[in-house]
Amino acid sequence: MRIRTADPASLALMPSSDYIALVDVNSFYASAERAFNPSLEGIPVVVLSNNDGCVVTRSAEAKALGIPMGEPWFKLKHLASDAIPRGKRLVALSSNYELYGDLSSRVMELLGRYSAWVEVYSIDEAFLGVNGTPVQLRQLGRTMKDAVRRHVGVPVCVGIATTKGLAKLANKLAKHNPDFAGVCHWESIPEEVRDGLMSRLSVVELWGVATRLTKRLNAMGIHTILI
Ligand SMILES: [Mg+2]
Repeated sequence: MRIRTADPASLALMPSSDYIALVDVNSFYASAERAFNPSLEGIPVVVLSNNDGCVVTRSAEAKALGIPMGEPWFKLKHLASDAIPRGKRLVALSSNYELYGDLSSRVMELLGRYSAWVEVYSIDEAFLGVNGTPVQLRQLGRTMKDAVRRHVGVPVCVGIATTKGLAKLANKLAKHNPDFAGVCHWESIPEEVRDGLMSRLSVVELWGVATRLTKRLNAMGIHTILI
């Protein structure tokens, strides 16, 4: 297995690939906790920062409760009250970075089976060089998703496109649109649908575009990803 980090010098060494797959674990810390404690499946879970200060990860159910990222724990304690029935009651866990690091290594090692180059981008996401027809690429995405779920126990979404930025965008679509079932190959989406999706996404959703740049783009009359 070859794992390369985000080193620009390594780019020249990468075997050529027509496509880039971004594989990203959903709600990583919460999913990692669930991998070891299945009773946490389907209920709102948050993982707290060091010394249980504030929320660093929310499960989908916790997001649905409207809990913001970074919310201090003392403001949420009432949601974890025993008076609330289990299933609706918020479960808060102290972070366990050793566990997350271990699971991350297992995910990355497994992904190394599917590509000659894997660029680990963060603890829970990696870019992979991939090739194939649209059907093969979608199948590869599903295979990787199923393998990570089966062998490591955490859910991932896969976005596949010709650039890292579009792979990020495809991954976001895979995560937020149930129609994709967790795998989105950008070019498999009909062009008019892609345009519709992009026209509904704010530029702030673009990789590398932060709030400040968004304000500047908006001032120039650029509001959505579609230009
Ligand atoms: Mg993630």
